[in-house]
Amino acid sequence: MTPTLTLQDIYRARQRIAPFIRHTPVIESPALSEKTHRQVVLKLECLQTTGAFKLRGAANKLLTLPNDARKHGVITVSSGNHGRAVAHMAGKLGIRAVVFITETVPEVKRDAMHKLGAEVILGGQTFDEALAAALHLQHAQGLTMIHPFDDPFVIAGQGTIGLELLEDDPEIDTVIVPLSGGGLLGGIALALKTANPAIRVVGVSMARGPAMIESLHAGRIVDVIEEPSLADALIGGIEHDNAHTFALLQRYMDNSALVSEDEIAGAMAFMLEAHHLVIEGGAAVGIAALLHGKIAQLGERVAVVVSGGNVSIPTLLDIARP
Ligand SMILES: *Cc1c(COP(=O)(O)O)cnc(C)c1O
Repeated sequence: MTPTLTLQDIYRARQRIAPFIRHTPVIESPALSEKTHRQVVLKLECLQTTGAFKLRGAANKLLTLPNDARKHGVITVSSGNHGRAVAHMAGKLGIRAVVFITETVPEVKRDAMHKLGAEVILGGQTFDEALAAALHLQHAQGLTMIHPFDDPFVIAGQGTIGLELLEDDPEIDTVIVPLSGGGLLGGIALALKTANPAIRVVGVSMARGPAMIESLHAGRIVDVIEEPSLADALIGGIEHDNAHTFALLQRYMDNSALVSEDEIAGAMAFMLEAHHLVIEGGAAVGIAALLHGKIAQLGERVAVVVSGGNVSIPTLLDIARP
């Protein structure tokens, strides 16, 4: 890998991961188009294998590991979906996988990782605590860290969504992306902006502890308080020694928005009603931002990345009740 990620790395990732991932559909959203007076399409990563886009990055990383690293096994820290993706892919390749999680990871996601054969360890209350615990075990046992976002191979894997969007809907001028550590947005933005720098890329986080957005505003990495959120997949800091995503987003993200817990719940219910699709809170933030007019300078043809669908039935029933 060259020190700076290029479009070619994303094309390579695409070829490498093709046998393991689904090229997900892009569908029109008449309901959102009517509400926003724009043409809105949805990129349905909630239908991805393992229920979220994270399989793209995890697959690309695991498939590029040298043989001796595969023999020793991998370790990761996850808010749920990345751990599940790593567990799934490690299972396919016969690699040992250890996943450190925090207390905010919902039970559905813990159970899924267990079922896939991963060793799941509660590593602390915050992402940084869990990461510190994982690094300790990594060194003790010679495991390879599969970072959930700050890794060029992971970013390149997530960037394959950008390639699919360009092919399936070449007219899009704005892309709205759920944002936490920035691997998803960074990869997609790199793919889209290399092809057409005029495409605008907008990141959306929950108002509770949006680490990347606050750091970008401050011009340096800042800590946020991690609070429970319906968007559990977006909880967590971006690390003081962030090597890739912070700089990538400083360069490529055009705009951002924040949404409240009520707005996230409303967007999940909206997707059930308008599209009969089950999506998780972290995947609903872009739709919430659109529904509440939170995005300035919206283009004419807007794609929203719907990043995952892993939500428990009790949570779903909660948000569906008026
Ligand atoms: C991880 C995740 C995100 C955010 O991705 P980052 O690369 O951390 O910005 C968004 N939505 C879902 C469903 C996720 O699992």
